[in-house]
Amino acid sequence: MAGGGCAPPRLDGFVLTERLGTGTYATVYKAYGKRDTREVVAVKCVSKRSLNRASVENLLTEIEILKTIRHPHIVELKDFQWDSDHIYLIMEFCAGGDLSRFIRMRRILPEKVARIFLQQLACALKFLHDHNISHLDLKPQNILLSTPENPQLKLADFGFAQYMSPWDEKHVLRGSPLYMAPEMVCRQQYDARVDLWSVGVILYEALFGRPPFASRSFAELEEKIRSDRAIELPSRPPLSPECRDLLQRLLERDPLKRISFEEFFAHPFVDMEHMPGPESFCKATNLVVEAVKKDQEGDASAALSLYCKALEYFVPALHYESDARRKEAIRTKVGQYISRAEELKALVASKSKNLLQQGNPAREILKEMAKDKPRLCAALEMASVAVAREEEGKDDGDTLELYQQSLGELLLLLADPDPDGPGGVPEGSDQDAGGAIHGQRGSGRLRPELLHLAVTPNGMLPAPRCCRWPRRRLG
Ligand code: ADP
Ligand code: MG
Repeated sequence: MAGGGCAPPRLDGFVLTERLGTGTYATVYKAYGKRDTREVVAVKCVSKRSLNRASVENLLTEIEILKTIRHPHIVELKDFQWDSDHIYLIMEFCAGGDLSRFIRMRRILPEKVARIFLQQLACALKFLHDHNISHLDLKPQNILLSTPENPQLKLADFGFAQYMSPWDEKHVLRGSPLYMAPEMVCRQQYDARVDLWSVGVILYEALFGRPPFASRSFAELEEKIRSDRAIELPSRPPLSPECRDLLQRLLERDPLKRISFEEFFAHPFVDMEHMPGPESFCKATNLVVEAVKKDQEGDASAALSLYCKALEYFVPALHYESDARRKEAIRTKVGQYISRAEELKALVASKSKNLLQQGNPAREILKEMAKDKPRLCAALEMASVAVAREEEGKDDGDTLELYQQSLGELLLLLADPDPDGPGGVPEGSDQDAGGAIHGQRGSGRLRPELLHLAVTPNGMLPAPRCCRWPRRRLG
């Protein structure tokens, strides 16, 4: 017999030992296989009483499917058994405990750590989403950690919630409303999007140390859930704008306005492409090989850009590597790439000074011709400010933004035959002789190569990663 305070139940082929935890529907024990390997597993004992008869059958079918699922961030279901009272799920053992305990012991997690967990969670959710499986009971207690050191997140307890309504026959809410989307608690009508709300609550709790609806009384909790006020994010600790944006879009009360799964997976804070994983090192190395090749060919700016892209993968590769010696070896190599990239950056910058002088006249001609084209004028002005800032040595995010905005606007104008409405860039203008505007009849198009020179005197947009990365810490 399985149950709260009782002795561990008997199970064929296993010796059940200490109790690992008790959740909403089950008790989980640590167990050893009786065979030679003495494999350590976790056995979850689900009481059939928490299910109706139809659900038992459906659940057994579902478990068959879940048994086939293999994913590095999902707790592996190895096998299952049942008797008259219980269903026993034999699972991979996670020695790091659950995320709830992990957060409690640290009070709050730094954004960098929370992000890595979030990426791993997103990876598991993407896999489930692709297999049409919703979790419906996402909370830190259902997120396990593989090991105490260097833990990998493992999603547990999914695929069952659909057979276990959060409301029992007496209309009493089971589980924790702290993590449930408001529509799940208030309307009892919901869909897969409730999982995204719960992701928001988990991220919020990891960063601020308590869930957004934390309350002193049930009345207070109910008021918070039923309210239509937007969720306010505490101002401390300070977070990156991407992180705040994601939190706000996940914690949107109206499921129709909430971020969608696709938007979530593509969100810059989630950035699944650069999440630490077994491929990070390989991707970094491939880019470095390309960078070295371009460097040998004398193409400094292409080499620099490739080194920067490689570093975006080396940082997660370092996070992922658990072997101390290999980690150190990667760190040393990365240090060398950074030094080389620094040299290349200086080289590209000095080249840009020369080009600047050539670029200026082109920009002046363009300005002269754009006198009665306000949009063109504004875009060129923006470019001039960016160039001036760069000349003053202000190689920062604002300068980069100005470059990007002006180039974006100019490219738009380039694509638009009549950028400023009637009386746009003159048709067949004889100012074409100046070389700045190519007056194709009826198109008034700017010549891309001159435009490029005018906007980015060094012939290369300072890529954001170039500006930022030398200041990033590794590992
Ligand atoms: P329930 O469905 O009743 O909520 P869970 O599967 O969430 O049950 O398990 C309850 C608790 O048991 C978890 O919060 C966790 O602390 C512990 N636990 C569950 N599965 C494992 C496992 N595979 N390894 C280690 N601990 C586990
Ligand atoms: Mg649980």
